[in-house]
Amino acid sequence: MADEKDRKTLEERHQMSDLERLRHSCAHVLATAVSRIWPDAQFAAGPPVEGGFYYDIDLKHRISPDDFPQIEAEMKKVVKENSSFERVVMSRDEAMSLAKSGRLAAVSKREVESVFKVDLLNDIPEDEEISIFKNGDFWDLCAGPHVGRTGNCKAFKVMSVASAFYKGDKDKQSLQRIYGTCFKNRTLLDEHLERLEEAKKRDHRRLGQRDESFYLR
Ligand SMILES: [Zn+2]
Repeated sequence: MADEKDRKTLEERHQMSDLERLRHSCAHVLATAVSRIWPDAQFAAGPPVEGGFYYDIDLKHRISPDDFPQIEAEMKKVVKENSSFERVVMSRDEAMSLAKSGRLAAVSKREVESVFKVDLLNDIPEDEEISIFKNGDFWDLCAGPHVGRTGNCKAFKVMSVASAFYKGDKDKQSLQRIYGTCFKNRTLLDEHLERLEEAKKRDHRRLGQRDESFYLR
């Protein structure tokens, strides 16, 4: 479904549209909420994609749609706090020591290292600047770009959960992928959700017709 390329080049990042920037920022808001609810969550990549964004997560708890209201309620709090996305440039060693102490893609230090962030840090080319982004207590390894504040991500929805292999590689670990979407305002979000609902109805009708023709044969 999504582009499985694990890392955007700096050039691709600079070309991110305003909407992609908003949606990727909302992935940080989602991750903030998830790590407050489940502090042991390990995050891999959280890019914008067609129609929204996702964040890949390794977590013992099996996330289901029953969890979405709790996740969305926590996201609302994060949005309301209106923290700025603060870019902090640091040396590779500094970033690695944060990752090793479990502090990246997390709201505090942890006993276990931020495993995927350690790995992703090693993927960053030698000559590339290393940055982390902080929104409140949530710190994540990221090159950006983001919107100014979490308050910009107010028209969002958690859409679905699926499984996905780390880096899209079937020989790697299977993760839980939470999809969400975010728009500039509530009206645009509602229109998007309506369009999805209409498309679903059309699909059901088409399937219905196909069933009928099957029985007529
Ligand atoms: Zn980011």
